[in-house]
Amino acid sequence: MAKITEERVLEALGRVRDPEQGKDLVSLGMIGGLTIKDGNVGFSIEVAAERGASAEPLRKAAEQAVFALDGVTSVTAVLTAHSSAPRTGGPADGAGAGPAAGAPAGASAPAPKGGGADRVGSIIAVASGKGGVGKSTTAANLTLALMAEGARTGLLDADIYGPSMPRMMGVRGKPTTADGKVLDPMVGHGVKLMSMGFLVDEETPMIWRGPMVMSALQQLLQDVDWGPLDVMVVDMPPGTGDAQLTLAQTARLAGAVIVSTPQDIALLDARKGLNMFRKVDVPVLGIVENMSYFQCPHCGERSDIFSHGGARREAERLGVPFLGEIPLDIAIRETSDGGRPIVAAEPDGSHAAAYREIAVRVLDRLDAGADGPKPAPKIVIR
Ligand code: ADP
Repeated sequence: MAKITEERVLEALGRVRDPEQGKDLVSLGMIGGLTIKDGNVGFSIEVAAERGASAEPLRKAAEQAVFALDGVTSVTAVLTAHSSAPRTGGPADGAGAGPAAGAPAGASAPAPKGGGADRVGSIIAVASGKGGVGKSTTAANLTLALMAEGARTGLLDADIYGPSMPRMMGVRGKPTTADGKVLDPMVGHGVKLMSMGFLVDEETPMIWRGPMVMSALQQLLQDVDWGPLDVMVVDMPPGTGDAQLTLAQTARLAGAVIVSTPQDIALLDARKGLNMFRKVDVPVLGIVENMSYFQCPHCGERSDIFSHGGARREAERLGVPFLGEIPLDIAIRETSDGGRPIVAAEPDGSHAAAYREIAVRVLDRLDAGADGPKPAPKIVIR
């Protein structure tokens, strides 16, 4: 089988003409973020935001041209919007292009005023220094715990490299659009939920690059009818690279929750997370220690297998609030892997109580403006 090279892909794309501009995609400089991994090819096509969904046939044509190459097994082409107008932060901002194959065509049109995430009170990120620490499990349970505390809550799965929320929240299918412009979010256990996992086929390799990540997140924020919400929890991709930084900058985050295991604290991974949010001026609401200690499912006895308590000490040292600890318990794994996170499955259990305590602290921090309690107003008697 012929080896797929950048030259061959660009040569194929050089034969695809943009009917609107009368030239091919390569000479117009519209191709970006080209990635080739074995036979899997991914790239972005940059179009003017105004073109919106009308650029979808162009995306398809580009995908087909590359797919026709000998040796190509899959192609993921995404449209990224570049806005000719200066950024305003409004709902139509950057909302020009479809994020991925499988997205309903109408999903790409600018959201009407007041749509998107404009009516969300606080957007908070749940992040971790590296994968596998239970970030998504914490995000799902924290979302449900916030709801249990009376907050209208939504969950945005921005872990677009490996979206796990559809499975974790037990939601399947594709979102629909009532007006052909904005997507209605899916709902799981009473929570409004959006994930790249709903828009991209599971087999599609997730080859996303910085610009694509940004455009995809903007769409999940702005082209979805989130309605009025008190809090939106964003499950961030693991790690602290450029893509994560971009996400942190794109969503107007009110704060970030860092999830860490006791071991990572020692390995500095969580600190990297803290520094990333500091860099973009997003207040860190606090640290959650996950898999903090082991609770025996049979006798209930607790063992501190990973030198429990590291996160609390480290949080104190760094001057960041400690939000709480969640034990390593098979029930937490089974419920979240089974589509019914423990806060929904056992709302009266001890784990749900622990997540709710964390939720209360998060709400308190948000109320306090995340920088600590505001000074009481002075009462002046004349
Ligand atoms: P991340 O998002 O950091 O990659 P996940 O939330 O997907 O991590 O969790 C990784 C695995 O660990 C999953 O199978 C999940 O069910 C399990 N898990 C997470 N937190 C706990 C916990 N406190 N106790 C037991 N298993 C957990």
